[in-house]
Amino acid sequence: MQPEWIEKLLKLQDIDLRIIKLRRQIEAVPEEKKQAEKELRENEENLEKAKQAVADNEKAIKKVESDIESLKAKERDFAAKSTMIKDNQEYRAALHQIEECKNKVSSLEDKELELMESLETARAQLEKEKKEYDAAAKRTRQMVDDLDLRARNCQERIAKFESEREAYRQAVPADKLNRYDRILQSPPGRAGRPPLVPVGRNNMCGGCRMNVPAQARIDAANGALSTCPNCGVMLYYDENAH
Ligand SMILES: [Zn+2]
Repeated sequence: MQPEWIEKLLKLQDIDLRIIKLRRQIEAVPEEKKQAEKELRENEENLEKAKQAVADNEKAIKKVESDIESLKAKERDFAAKSTMIKDNQEYRAALHQIEECKNKVSSLEDKELELMESLETARAQLEKEKKEYDAAAKRTRQMVDDLDLRARNCQERIAKFESEREAYRQAVPADKLNRYDRILQSPPGRAGRPPLVPVGRNNMCGGCRMNVPAQARIDAANGALSTCPNCGVMLYYDENAH
């Protein structure tokens, strides 16, 4: 038969450890949101790159087209002038210029074809990135909503547990409660680990698994305040404990 304060303190401990776990889940929410949003930003960057590639390609095509236009104008100009040239050598020079313009136009037209092909590829890539971004944005919104919901659920459960704590606290003598509170709040490591652990017939502490003096077990069995000299946790006697 367990002393009543031990029973109550074990129940309080169960509630407190649950609250600690729930608080940790809430604390993890902002980091998880950040992670989800970071992934979306990567998709956004890829989308921007794809848009830029299309724009660069279109710009390059316009430039080639305008170069072709000015070469053709130049060519027409030479052709018009050549009809008025009387000198043979000058005439040949003009024909040479016309030929050169034609060659340049032809190579620019080849280049334009290549650019148009790569524009097709860039546009296909942009479509793909748009779809991926939309899917990622949807996923991220869902994740953020889920995380918000999780935080709200945890908060509600914490509130429920908080309202149950007081009744148990009032059933535990002040000296034991103070010791328990101190251990529960003392950093590091203790947060999340039980401040009150069992000790059994073989004197092993349920917290650190080290041997405690027999007197500590006897005190615990008598319902007195007993602590493990190794790890500082409170001990209660449980004959089934190892
Ligand atoms: Zn211990």
